[in-house]
Amino acid sequence: MKNVSLKNKIPVGILGATGMVGQKFIELLANHPWFNVTTLAASERSVGQVYKKAVNWHGTAPIPAAMANLKIKPCKPNFDCQIVFSSLDSSVAGKIEETFAQSGYTVVSNSKNHRMDKDVPLLVPEINYQHLDLVKKQPHQGKIVTNPNCSTIGLVIALKPLIDNFGVKEVSVVTLQALSGAGYPGLASLDMLDNVIPFISGEEDKLEDEPLKIFGTYSKGALKYHDIKISAQCNRVAVSHGHLECVSVKLKKKVSIKEIKAAWQNFSSEPQRLDLPMAPKQPIYYFEEDFWPQPKFQRDLDKGMAVSIGRLQPSSVFDYKFVILSHNLIRGAAGGAILNAELMVKKKYL
Ligand code: NAP
Repeated sequence: MKNVSLKNKIPVGILGATGMVGQKFIELLANHPWFNVTTLAASERSVGQVYKKAVNWHGTAPIPAAMANLKIKPCKPNFDCQIVFSSLDSSVAGKIEETFAQSGYTVVSNSKNHRMDKDVPLLVPEINYQHLDLVKKQPHQGKIVTNPNCSTIGLVIALKPLIDNFGVKEVSVVTLQALSGAGYPGLASLDMLDNVIPFISGEEDKLEDEPLKIFGTYSKGALKYHDIKISAQCNRVAVSHGHLECVSVKLKKKVSIKEIKAAWQNFSSEPQRLDLPMAPKQPIYYFEEDFWPQPKFQRDLDKGMAVSIGRLQPSSVFDYKFVILSHNLIRGAAGGAILNAELMVKKKYL
């Protein structure tokens, strides 16, 4: 790793900077108080071009001036920075991220490849910041830290206060996932217009497995997975951004609707205590309105980092059912990864 001279901000790079998640990193990091983007990288298709020419920009504001003319580099570990955010396609992310970690970089990844590795934290700072310690077990000079799948994140944040206060035995979840979750160009318009596709490759497994690691107990250097039972069904719907999930839960205790709402509304954790720049003021917002949450209206709530919940009702099969919404590109990807990096800085893991 090259010597990095730290002035005020920490230099960072983005692997996969041209993709849907990469573009969100660019937007969110443009005015970040701690991080300064120095390097952008992507595939051979983009290498050598300036960012504004290589990218099919989907942001609502123009490309931040400081990044528009940066030349795209290959994904080789010779960046002038310390932290590398990865939003690489999963077909290549695994190997490239390892190469960077072996060369001493801290890789903060969105990709699935290393999420379930024994020594890699699958980090949600509101839930399992203690798991960061797993990086000490990694064999390379650098580190790899991951954030969960974009549909896992809404579910685990909604479940966390229920697990802590009442215990959760079983969960059934049906997702309605946005198009941007499939990257760009994603699915063909003729497949999606006037349609819902009841299959997203690998997604149901991630939604059933990742929470067990996220809710795992970390003690004496080892992680013991949670035993919660989850059944997931995933659908792709014609919404641009924001994953909606219909959830039913069986709890360990008998509780009232009022107690559940209070557990969600009072939920606050480490990122809020530490006042991390990307942290939502409130991780969970409960809406009483029958028609909410909706992707179009609530996905950007609290910087796009909050999870919106509504429609809490008793269930005749489970105990309760409700609906959750989270922004797949922000809380479920770039924003979540930035929060992870902020936690690592604050807790001195760099
Ligand atoms: P995307 O829009 O398809 O972008 C993929 C990125 O990977 C592009 O920058 C692309 O560069 C780069 N890439 C592709 N092949 C490469 C290669 N051989 N070498 C180097 N770079 C290569 O996908 P995305 O939606 O941003 O997702 C990125 C990652 O985040 C994926 O692993 C995905 O599973 C994960 N993720 C996505 C979401 C979401 O909501 N979209 C949420 C959570 C996690 P070029 O433009 O140069 O081809």
